[in-house]
Amino acid sequence: MAKIPVGILGATGMVGQQYITLLNDHPWFEVRYVAASPRSAGKKYAEAVSGRWHLAKTFAPHIGGLMVEDANDVSRAVAAFKKGECSFVFSALEMGKDETRALEDAYAAEGIPVISNASAHRWTPDVPVLIAEINPDHTDIIPIQKKARGWDRGFIAVKPNCSIQSYMKPIHALAQAGYPAQRIIVSTMQAISGAGYPGVPSLDMIDNIVPYIGGEEEKSEKEPLKIFGSIENGVIKNADFPKISAHCNRVPVTDGHTACINLEFAAKKPSLDEIKAVWYAYKGLPQTADLPMAPKQPIIYREEENRPQPRKDRDADKGMAVVIGRLRPCNVFDIRFTALSHNTVRGAAGGGILNAELLKHKGYLS
Ligand code: NAP
Repeated sequence: MAKIPVGILGATGMVGQQYITLLNDHPWFEVRYVAASPRSAGKKYAEAVSGRWHLAKTFAPHIGGLMVEDANDVSRAVAAFKKGECSFVFSALEMGKDETRALEDAYAAEGIPVISNASAHRWTPDVPVLIAEINPDHTDIIPIQKKARGWDRGFIAVKPNCSIQSYMKPIHALAQAGYPAQRIIVSTMQAISGAGYPGVPSLDMIDNIVPYIGGEEEKSEKEPLKIFGSIENGVIKNADFPKISAHCNRVPVTDGHTACINLEFAAKKPSLDEIKAVWYAYKGLPQTADLPMAPKQPIIYREEENRPQPRKDRDADKGMAVVIGRLRPCNVFDIRFTALSHNTVRGAAGGGILNAELLKHKGYLS
């Protein structure tokens, strides 16, 4: 099967670099088009990332020779599309929200589907916010979105914030098993790479914790409700529950967001052993359809009392699994536990690739 040629907008950044390495040898997709800011445009990819390559794994030689285009110039991507070099794009741009939204719309309007990591379109009512295991049915909004905007081939699908990845799947698994959550308090300890490059100044981070990440608590509390919502009258209607209260902290960890969760069930309360069994058995469409980027075991429970830890657990199953530990009763709510997910893999590029695989599986990408 010929591979689908894909483009990466923001290919030089922290998330863009993850896309480049994760797509190396991907069985379905092949990177043929890279774009970034005007600062990088006109340079070969290897030159554009020289001195600011962040990953241990490097890029393939043919990627180093690709010319970086200006992501703001949609006509370049359209020309690449016509040459068979860019069938859809992953968006990993770090720009103002309004600029990002307008640019992603422009790509979709020109017939180039956009699978985005940016937050700009997460609150657009007919744009799905996808976690492939949880709400693959939200892709059903895409024909409605295309029709409403007069787009024939293009569309926009996004993934949620990296801070919520670790607790969404365990909560979803329990809800599916008949134990929905009513109220949740979550405290996150978020890695520095979540702020992009160069990110938080080193003097703010070394020997320190910063108890504020702009906009992050609101995203952590509200995005889950859209993901747990349903399509009604041509838009995604948010769920009413669970109510979430979040504290988001930046900590001196390179990669991997950890969350401590206190959870109250709506009605039925499972035993701790039942909860572990539910998490162990949890599978979604990515696993049953055997999508290439899907973790075999989406939730891994560790019995050791001192796990999960970012350094030891963030790369579990290619960095795509959520690792949980420390499940115990809560004196105020019902249960408490600690969960971890890799922010630039599961929470960004890996999650974006899995969404693209889901969309291809559903016939939206060809
Ligand atoms: P980053 O390291 O700062 O990279 C930003 C990218 O955007 C670079 O390729 C940069 O190009 C490009 N860019 C910046 N200004 C631009 C402009 N005016 N026009 C066109 N391109 C421009 O940021 P990141 O951490 O990779 O994040 C990328 C996106 O993913 C953001 O929307 C972020 O919110 C989201 N996200 C990040 C994470 C994470 O853990 N880091 C997780 C989930 C979602 P140059 O290199 O040429 O400047």
